[in-house]
Amino acid sequence: MRLVRLIANLGYGSRKDVAWMFREGRITDADGEVLYADDKVDHMQIRVDGEPLDPPAGIVLMMYKPLGVTCSRKDPGRVVYDLLPPRYRVRDPALSTVGRLDRDTSGLLLFTDDGTLLHRIISPRANITKVYEATLAQDLSGDEEALFASGTLMLESETTPLLPAKLDVLAPRHTRLSITEGRYHQVRRMFAATGNHVETLQRTAVGGLQLEGMQPGEWHQLDANEIARIF
Ligand code: URA
Repeated sequence: MRLVRLIANLGYGSRKDVAWMFREGRITDADGEVLYADDKVDHMQIRVDGEPLDPPAGIVLMMYKPLGVTCSRKDPGRVVYDLLPPRYRVRDPALSTVGRLDRDTSGLLLFTDDGTLLHRIISPRANITKVYEATLAQDLSGDEEALFASGTLMLESETTPLLPAKLDVLAPRHTRLSITEGRYHQVRRMFAATGNHVETLQRTAVGGLQLEGMQPGEWHQLDANEIARIF
């Protein structure tokens, strides 16, 4: 791919803007040598204003989504993309969240620009466990563990029952729930089906990836080992 298109696709500006950046000598190699638009150079060697070029297409990011931000591009309020550098919002191919977390859910959120990978992760057939910690408005009745594990729980307006899920009781109003699907508001609706109400909800793991050690709002690009841990 020509450098102008490559750099424009990473969100640095229109192709016209990027062509100007070349003319202004802002695009260099790692030694500070000015590059020209038709040079052939390894991605990792390119610098823009002295800074390494953003990673090429095919990235996966992991974020600790804080409360109060939505997994949307269009929402007029705070969105998860506001926590990334502005260029990441306009990359081509587009960076999408892998599934969604509600505005009032915090925790581990993935992004990718790789559509095949995205579908591999969200497909129920992939059987990837998502772990949620929920605090509840009322004490558990004691029946929830068996009900969630049964594979017979039918949520309102759904046509198929939920796959079996594993509930660990941490305290009378504090649970860890492991599910392999990602239906709309699934965890909140599961507890609502038992007459309870989720007060706080956090996703703590996706496959072998753990939220532990991250702070709200933090994010990083996953390396190949971390991507492999999802599956
Ligand atoms: N289940 C929910 O109810 N909300 C989320 O954000 C994620 C899972």
